[in-house]
Amino acid sequence: RAKAEARGSFRFFEPEMDARLQARRELERDLREAVADEAFELHYQPIYDLSVERVCGFEALLRWKHPKRGTVSPAEFIPLAEELGLIIPLGEWVLRAACRQASAWPDELKVAVNVSAVQFTSARLITAVREALQTAGLPGRRLELEITESVLVANPGSTTAILHSLKSLGVRVSMDDFGTGYSSLSYLRSFPFDKIKIDQSFVRDLNASEGSGYIVRAVIGLGASLGMTTTAEGVETPDQLQRLRAEGCDEVQGYLISRPVPAGDLPALLRRLNGERRAIA
Ligand code: C2E
Ligand code: MG
Ligand code: MG
Ligand code: MG
Repeated sequence: RAKAEARGSFRFFEPEMDARLQARRELERDLREAVADEAFELHYQPIYDLSVERVCGFEALLRWKHPKRGTVSPAEFIPLAEELGLIIPLGEWVLRAACRQASAWPDELKVAVNVSAVQFTSARLITAVREALQTAGLPGRRLELEITESVLVANPGSTTAILHSLKSLGVRVSMDDFGTGYSSLSYLRSFPFDKIKIDQSFVRDLNASEGSGYIVRAVIGLGASLGMTTTAEGVETPDQLQRLRAEGCDEVQGYLISRPVPAGDLPALLRRLNGERRAIA
């Protein structure tokens, strides 16, 4: 009986594993094809400067239009692209596309591009950035790269040199998702970041948990004393916005201001956010 049961559960387990492996193999094959065909699109989410009450730039967010699955989230395919060694060509496509699209925007608007740890520490990064800027005719000061704490933990040594090369191109670098990784505060002092992006998990709990409020206040204070801009991510409610204003946060980003939108929607979005009748209370 025990044997029958064991066999039964084995039978139950096996096809499920098979199906999962099968699905993964299919996703891998589709992703390789998509990178070769450049079957991606960038959506843009506004970053809003509270000191002048205007949009100061957009973050480029990668979208994969999968023929069968619809839109696949980057949280799902970026790790896979890293694993398959596809993140360098994919990341360079993002850089080129973002710089090209941003070159059509008004000069005061920056574009922020997410760069994975693998790409950031690759030997090609600086060349790829320089080429993307040159081809698009975009001044380096209009490009921001967003990296996460994992980059620092994996490669503290090479990061300083890379940050300085980027600075010499005029490119700014932001610490993304701050507070969620494994880095220590001393990293902030040692690396010349221009901006700290406060992770959305702290913003989400801002009015519900006292702790999150203290953390947000501390990070804003830290940014100010280190000469770094602070941006709050994931702002969804007027209450959160009001609190961030009161704490002296420099910039906000989130669904309250706008969801990420395709490049074609940006002119209308800018009119809505920067126009006479401001949409941001
Ligand atoms: P991230 O860089 O921290 O980007 C912010 C994420 O939060 C985006 O998710 C955005 O759509 C979402 N978001 C913005 N406002 C709100 C809000 O008010 N509420 C909530 N709940 N979410 C909000 P998305 O587009 O799914 O991207 C997820 C992550 O994937 C990004 O996190 C980034 O780490 C990565 N990613 C996206 N595009 C790229 C890319 O081109 N290259 C690389 N290497 N990574 C990328
Ligand atoms: Mg980001
Ligand atoms: Mg983030
Ligand atoms: Mg994130």
